[in-house]
Parts: sequence; structure tokens; C-alpha cells
Amino acid sequence: GHGLMKGKRGLIMGLANDKSIAWGIAKALAAEGAELALTYQGDAFRKRVVPLADELGVTQMADCDVTDPASIDAVFNQLEEAWGGLDFYVHAIGFSDKSELRGRYVDTSPENFRMSMDISVYSFTACCQRAEKLMKNGGSCLTLTYLGAERVMPHYNVMGVAKAALEASVRYLAEDLGKDGVRVNAISAGPIKTLAASGIGDFRYILKWNEYNSPLRRTVTIDEVGQSALYLLSDMGRAVTGEVHHVDSGYHAVGMKAVDAPDM
Ligand code: NAD
Repeated sequence: GHGLMKGKRGLIMGLANDKSIAWGIAKALAAEGAELALTYQGDAFRKRVVPLADELGVTQMADCDVTDPASIDAVFNQLEEAWGGLDFYVHAIGFSDKSELRGRYVDTSPENFRMSMDISVYSFTACCQRAEKLMKNGGSCLTLTYLGAERVMPHYNVMGVAKAALEASVRYLAEDLGKDGVRVNAISAGPIKTLAASGIGDFRYILKWNEYNSPLRRTVTIDEVGQSALYLLSDMGRAVTGEVHHVDSGYHAVGMKAVDAPDM
């Protein structure tokens, strides 16, 4: 590393296992000297997250379910006590009942619509609200989104609608927090095989399609998303806010199947 994150402290939410995008981001930040806090969602994830946290010398850990405001408050209170401030915040959380990540969007239930919006959209705003208060010297907040926010993708359904709202909230948050030197951005990642992605119908087909049709003719890795996150979270990205940055081998730029793509 080059010490790009030396002296910076930050919180990462959404680490489930070593396939998580949050893990790619955590490794990239730790390699540049960042001090990290991690949250995990309940005891089931704790066992897998502890050894990963140890690997990076993580100093602050907490159980947090973002549907519970008290549990969000507890995390930020813990960090205020331990660190007195915060330099960056990463939100790598999304959820929808997987029975609605197939079939038609129009059939979405009100219960799952509200839950998906609460966990995948509102939680980012709720955490930025609390992070802002700790970012006394400015800071950088980052969330993860997908092209399904901008265009219709098979099976993405309610998550596409949620990601559209998440991207809009990035712009509103960037305006609100910009005066205090706090930046807010999103990375729109190409498809990666993770626990969350495995809930999406025909995910292997989506991976192959991206491999054959993206300008770089390959999918992306969690480490590559981590490198881009490093740019947005470090001072290298200090003039960038309200941005949705695509890290997807260029797939977002393409309008049609590649002429050399095999039949699928
Ligand atoms: P992942 O399963 O590793 O991470 C999802 C995380 O969300 C898990 O750690 C889970 O514990 C957490 N989570 C879900 N509900 C929660 C709750 N109520 N409270 C707290 N945490 C909760 O999968 P991932 O693919 O690394 O997902 C991270 C982010 O990246 C998500 O926002 C996802 O939509 C986004 N994304 C993923 C892809 C992809 O193809 N994998 C592409 C673009 C964007």
C-alpha cells in the first residue's frame, strides 16, 4: 500500500463472508492503512466475520440489524465513545425476499416492497444521518447499487426499484452533507457471485451475459470494486460527490449484444 488511508477511521456494514463486496472493500482500505469497524447481522454471521476481522486487525465490531433503529444508534454511540469521530462509512446492504427476485415485478407484495425499501434504501439515509454527526473533519460515505436501477434486468424486480431510490438518495444526501465536507457516492457494481446475488433468478446466466457482452469481456471482482471504493473514500476522490460510479467492465455503456458473443 501507499498509506492513502493512514489516520482514517471508518465503519463498514454488510460483511457476510469472504465473497462479500464489503470484504473486497475492507481489504483495499486496510491495505492502505485505514482503521476499520465492522458490523454483522446477528450471531449466524458472527462466526464467519470474526476471523476476517482478525485478519485485518479490526478494532471495533458490533451486531447490527438496520431494521432496528436502536441497534443502529448503538453502533454509532460505540464509535463515538471509542474514536470520537469518523472519516468514512460504507453501506453494503441489500435485501428482498428471494421469492420476489423472479417472476414479474408487477406481482410484488406490499410487505416485501416496504421491507426491501427499508433495508436497501432507508438504512443508508439512517446511517448517513448518524455518520454526519461524527464526521467533524468532513468524510466520505459510500453505498452499492446495480444497473437494474436504471434499466430493466431480468428477475431484479423490486430491487431495481429500491436501487433507483437509493441512487436518488445519494444525490439528496450529497447536497445535504456537502456543506460540511461530507461526500456521498455509490458504486454500481457489475454482477458478482455473492450470498445476496445467489437469491436472484438465473444469476449464472446474468454473469455469463456480462462476461460475453461487456466492453472488457469479463466480469468484475470484489477486489476491483474495493480499489474503486478506495478512490471514492480516500482524499483522491475529494472533489467527487453525488456520483454513481459504474465498476462493471463497461457494461452500462453498451446498447446491444456484442457481435462476437456466443449464442446462449
Ligand atoms: P452479501 O450477501 O455478501 O452482502 C449483503 C449484506 O447485507 C449481508 O452482509 C447481510 O448481512 C446484509 N443485510 C441484509 N439485511 C440486513 C439487515 N436487516 N441489517 C443488516 N445487514 C443486513 O452480498 P453483496 O453482493 O456483497 O451485497 C452488498 C451490496 O452490493 C448490496 O447492496 C447489493 O445489492 C450490492 N450489489 C451487489 C452486486 C452483486 O452482483 N453481488 C452487484 C451490484 C450491487
